[in-house]
Amino acid sequence: MKKLVLTLASLFLVSALTTAQKVDYDKEKGKEYADQVEETMGVYDNAEMTAYVNKIGERLVAQLEEPLFDFQFKMVPTSVPNAFALPGGYLYVTTGLIPLLESEDELACVMAHEIIHAQNRHAVKSMRRGILPAILQIPGNIVGAFNSQLGNSINNPIQAISSLGMASYSRKQETEADTEGVALAAKAGYDPQALKSALTRLAGATEIMSGEAETKSYLSDHPYTPDRVAKIDKLISSFDYPKSAGVSSDFLREFDGVLIGDDPTHGVVSEQLYIHPEFNFRMLFPDEWEIEAQRDMVAAQSKDEKSGVIGSFEISDVSPDSAGQAFLAELNPQYHSYIHGNEKVMISGRPGYMVSFQGDSGKETVYGFRLWIKYDNVLQSFYAVGYLDQRKTLEEIMYSIRHLSDEERSKVEISHLNIVNATGDENLEAVNKRTNSDIDPKLSALINGVELDAKLEQGTQIKTVVSTPYFE
Ligand SMILES: [Zn+2]
Repeated sequence: MKKLVLTLASLFLVSALTTAQKVDYDKEKGKEYADQVEETMGVYDNAEMTAYVNKIGERLVAQLEEPLFDFQFKMVPTSVPNAFALPGGYLYVTTGLIPLLESEDELACVMAHEIIHAQNRHAVKSMRRGILPAILQIPGNIVGAFNSQLGNSINNPIQAISSLGMASYSRKQETEADTEGVALAAKAGYDPQALKSALTRLAGATEIMSGEAETKSYLSDHPYTPDRVAKIDKLISSFDYPKSAGVSSDFLREFDGVLIGDDPTHGVVSEQLYIHPEFNFRMLFPDEWEIEAQRDMVAAQSKDEKSGVIGSFEISDVSPDSAGQAFLAELNPQYHSYIHGNEKVMISGRPGYMVSFQGDSGKETVYGFRLWIKYDNVLQSFYAVGYLDQRKTLEEIMYSIRHLSDEERSKVEISHLNIVNATGDENLEAVNKRTNSDIDPKLSALINGVELDAKLEQGTQIKTVVSTPYFE
């Protein structure tokens, strides 16, 4: 009998240890991802709004029976409406989510859902495929020459970011986050009904922005919103939540002036141009190439996914020559036989250094290069890869780098959410016109919860989106 007790005790010990280790693992991984998110997406720099989001987060976490992590709440500047949690309790609300919400209760319900994902240690099931993995899947023996380096410097952030925006959990975990999330919100004194309106508006906005209706598909990872809302509705009909004090009654004013759309400061895409306003350059990608801008970084690939370019930019004293030499010194000797060229170059009158590679993929010849260019005080660092017949295209992209013209400078805009009051006799359309709000009319009606032509009561608060030139 003694032996059995001992076994049980040690079993208990093992499982207890395992949980602690899992929590430590989450903390460690989460910190790593959080650093990547903040490095590549940036953190939205507004102390008051961040403090407000934190207040809501802390109020929710205080109701967890046993918080596993020291939760942190931040805002990230991106147009994608989203909130996401990383392992270890790092929680982010995108600025793009704000205009779609109407009350503190709605934001609290969305955040509670994410807190549950982190607290219950839901593992991300799949990730949206980013541009970079596709580039690395170009067959051929030379890609490894890039791969080894990409592994540290660029690969991780892009993968992390691509995955975070669209991380998907299993349906069971989504239901769990909804169920336990509304319960947590209610316990903290928030109206659990608000999750329904938030989800419905988010789905509506997604339909308007994508031009596609949400469909009920059993293949999709995402639960169909009306089904989700019906489930929540059934669940909370029995809730008796203590509506408590301290919920802002003027939610919109808390976020008056918040950034809408992407922050152009660290690089922006305008049609086929990549524009970096602060480093004063642009580069042109071929028609139909998909381009993705991140903080001081661009990734682009051809439509057939057979060629791609990644560039990263930083103010640096390092010369292209020494960057090239450092790359060669670190390059695994197995790739040296594929080196095709290794030389100083001039790109549009700027000093550069290029190491090019050529090798077989079995059928076709694969070509690629690493290139560093000193552009003013900025070191531009490129990876380019494709089949040999794309060589000219890849090089032309590099030769398209130029200072911004006045016309290109004037294309860069920054947009903010402005809360305005309707004056007498105005409808939504008139308010948008008066304030130069350039929001899509359908979206305007959706986020304001009124028809475009309905007469507004004097003083009604209206969300408008106003774009101004980035350069004065
Ligand atoms: Zn979720």
